[in-house]
Amino acid sequence: MAESKDPLADTVVNNLKVYDDPRKMRDVVIALRAQGRKIGFVPTMGALHAGHLSLVEASRRETDVTIVSIFVNPTQFSDPADLERYPRTLFLDMALLSQLSVNAIFAPKQDAVYPAGYSTSVVVSGVTDRWEGEFRPGHFSGVAMVVLKLFNMVQPDIAFFGQKDYQQTLVVRRMVEDLNVPVQVRICPTIRERDGLAMSSRNALLTADDRERGLVLSRSLKLASELFAAGERDATKIRQRMLAQFEKTPGVTMEYVTLVDPAQMNEVSHARADSVAIIAARVGNVRLIDNCILGQVDAWTTNR
Ligand code: AMP
Repeated sequence: MAESKDPLADTVVNNLKVYDDPRKMRDVVIALRAQGRKIGFVPTMGALHAGHLSLVEASRRETDVTIVSIFVNPTQFSDPADLERYPRTLFLDMALLSQLSVNAIFAPKQDAVYPAGYSTSVVVSGVTDRWEGEFRPGHFSGVAMVVLKLFNMVQPDIAFFGQKDYQQTLVVRRMVEDLNVPVQVRICPTIRERDGLAMSSRNALLTADDRERGLVLSRSLKLASELFAAGERDATKIRQRMLAQFEKTPGVTMEYVTLVDPAQMNEVSHARADSVAIIAARVGNVRLIDNCILGQVDAWTTNR
């Protein structure tokens, strides 16, 4: 979208403050904390949808001040075409957040986040070895880097993330624990479209046919949950039934479909209530991921 040169420098949109300068953002937070306010933070890459808004609502329930960041983080994209295509709807996002009693938006520019010559990296090993880490080399270093930087810039008390990006939640938790980051992390449930498709900024890039094909992800997760609820505990059998859904759906290239343990994301042979079914697939030229915890009721169609 066309943007003017410096749309954000201390902009006020319907009483909502938009900060682009990390130092100003931090000064504001320091002043708020001095007044005894608890600061909630929702990091996003924009193109906001009801999934993001559910994190805002969770923050509003638990904190006094909610700050949403909007920053399309280049270092977490392993595919330059994906970064190029990523939807950017900054002014719509600002308008949306201005209606939600968000207290401030933090939308730093790229050179404020990555100054020339930056030479530090944040690498979380182990839990990043497989799945997203395998299919998107470097992705989680970019995520850990930007989350740590945003935490340092905003200095929130509590930060809110979505279960939709399950492996990311483990990476953030690991980093926070390993580096003694003084931020509490909350994980909120995945919000879905009425037909089950997990909400994602990338859904806007799907053609109508691909959007229909993309339902295979939530369909096979729902099937896995149903098989588990009916007493099936053989992870191989559950996986095979999930894979059969993909075989029936042309135009979708499955990257992984499997059942893992919730802490390390190692594949399991015996399904338990806390096992996580995880999926990644390319639908047309859009890559989608989704997951569900087998023993948890996931509102497949109505949680909007
Ligand atoms: P993103 O803008 O894609 O980086 O996502 C920002 C935050 O929103 C991350 O913590 C995501 O896990 C979360 N999120 C994205 N989609 C959903 C969804 N459908 N339901 C709940 N949270 C989501």
